[in-house]
Amino acid sequence: MSETTAFGAAICQHIRIGGQRCTQPARRNSNYCRFHTAALQSPPAKLSELTEQLPPLEDLASIQIALMKVIQFIMKHPYEAQNARPVLYGLQLAANNLARTRNLTDAAHRFTDKLPTKAPTSDPESQTM
Ligand SMILES: [Zn+2]
Repeated sequence: MSETTAFGAAICQHIRIGGQRCTQPARRNSNYCRFHTAALQSPPAKLSELTEQLPPLEDLASIQIALMKVIQFIMKHPYEAQNARPVLYGLQLAANNLARTRNLTDAAHRFTDKLPTKAPTSDPESQTM
């Protein structure tokens, strides 16, 4: 019997190298989460098929999946390494943009945390100078 999340979804069956089990919910009709389903797919035969299989680069996990797929592809087809370089460069840009976006988000949170939580009052007795 497989373990389930608090909402009844099955947990991913992947065991990490360190012996810890993945804690993400498994995809519907799969034993694995989104990340490990993609990670366990074998690399395609052509670079064009690889780029069609890459996930949208929307977060760190998707960039990691894409990077892993490109590396697996190059390992299987070393003669395609030169052709795969633009894909790797694109992934590097995506990772850099994600880091920059996180820095902006952190800065925005630091700024909004300093804002007063109460609206200024019109009562002159309650204001301090
Ligand atoms: Zn997983």
